[in-house]
Amino acid sequence: MAFNLTSELARHLPETIAVFDAAMQCVSLIQTQHSPMEWLHRAAGDLFTPANVVAAAIQQAQGGAMVDVECQRVGAATWYALSFAPLPNGMVIVSARDVTERKQRDDAVARSHQELTNTLTAHSNKAREASEQLALKVKELERRTREIGLMSEMVSLLQACVDVKEAYPLLARYMGKLFPSSSGMIAIIRESRNVAEVEVTWGVGSEFNLPVFAPNECWGLRSGRAHNSTDLPICSHLSGTSDLGEGCWCIPMVASGETLGVVNVRLAVKLDDAQRQLLTAVTEQIALALANLKLRKALNELSIRDPLTGLFNRRYMEESIGRELARAHRSGERVGFLMIDTDFFKKFNDTYGHEVGDAVLRELGAMFKTNLREHDIPCRYAGDEWLMILVGKEISPESATRRAEELRVLATRIRVQSGGQMVGQITLSIGVALFPDHGEDKDAILRAADRALYQAKDAGRNQVSLAVAESVALMEAAEKRLELAATDGASDETVAA
Ligand SMILES: [Zn+2]
Repeated sequence: MAFNLTSELARHLPETIAVFDAAMQCVSLIQTQHSPMEWLHRAAGDLFTPANVVAAAIQQAQGGAMVDVECQRVGAATWYALSFAPLPNGMVIVSARDVTERKQRDDAVARSHQELTNTLTAHSNKAREASEQLALKVKELERRTREIGLMSEMVSLLQACVDVKEAYPLLARYMGKLFPSSSGMIAIIRESRNVAEVEVTWGVGSEFNLPVFAPNECWGLRSGRAHNSTDLPICSHLSGTSDLGEGCWCIPMVASGETLGVVNVRLAVKLDDAQRQLLTAVTEQIALALANLKLRKALNELSIRDPLTGLFNRRYMEESIGRELARAHRSGERVGFLMIDTDFFKKFNDTYGHEVGDAVLRELGAMFKTNLREHDIPCRYAGDEWLMILVGKEISPESATRRAEELRVLATRIRVQSGGQMVGQITLSIGVALFPDHGEDKDAILRAADRALYQAKDAGRNQVSLAVAESVALMEAAEKRLELAATDGASDETVAA
């Protein structure tokens, strides 16, 4: 049997050997795994892909170079490692080894590498997100801690306030701190219930709020719930405000079931849930504090007012005398004291009964209150005895006496009825004394006023008498005693004669 090199090679070679001519057509083939029909007479570009890679390799080999590339068989999953080498006349010899298995292994490795990379990336993304979230949470927690601190600071300062007037500027300051770059106002519903008055504002643009409005002009007050005017309808008390920001909240202030007023907050940024809760909690605290101050004021009024006439009571009178004298010592001003007795008051009680007696006192109290100035202090310190403390630069013996005279005349015009009939005329005896003219301290002044009162009574009641200084009074009393002694002596002599 003849030895055929081509057959032997075809049996043993792992590679397919092909020869391409100058036109890149396969013209000769030694192979084991493929039918020659598949490669023979076909262009390199039709056999392998990418075609341009194969074409370039052939061209380089035609130019005399040895070239190695890896290409895929067109229309199949098979991969070949192709080694091109030059032959004469522009021909090229190619050895093609099937590397599909290795390629698949490489691909698998690349795929699992990619999967691993993806997994790692996903993990690291998750870790980054978690750390970002944690940072946000920490920031949020810091903000809440700061807000809680501010709120408790505000509450403790509010508790230390003496009256609501002190509380308002504090509220404005803390609202500005709790809601940075906000503006707003707090309005209080008056006793009449038909008007709400803006007591304090903060931030830029708050001057556009109506200073006084009807409670039903606010949707928050109308509905009894927090209302955001940026979501419509707009509260008409905000009508002067063109820019409502990102939120314009009206939250009614309610304490012990009573609506005290409304807190309006205008914000440049949208509130998150936590901030909305904060706004509600702060409003509750403000309402509670204002209700407490109102209650405290009412209790205080009860403790310093005479319930029958509404005038100040003896306790407050004593405090006021001390306070006003100390103030007058510093300022060098006078203080006037009108000590007033209701003439024959017992008569009203005895003749018409206590109800009429009380009516007389009530009418007198109302007359005193309406005819004194706001800073004067009208007091009822015993049954039918009164003391008016007059303060101010213009107080003089003349002005105090004139005021006393006015009160005396006004008292005579008071009309009180009993059983459809007018009771007798009300008259007053009034003693007028001034600091420092008639005494340097409380006791001396009150003694002087008392003496003047008795002088008015002695002279026939229904009149005003101005005090004299204690030293003058003592001198006069001594002179009177001497006069009396002289008269007594003279009469003794007469008797003796
Ligand atoms: Zn409103």
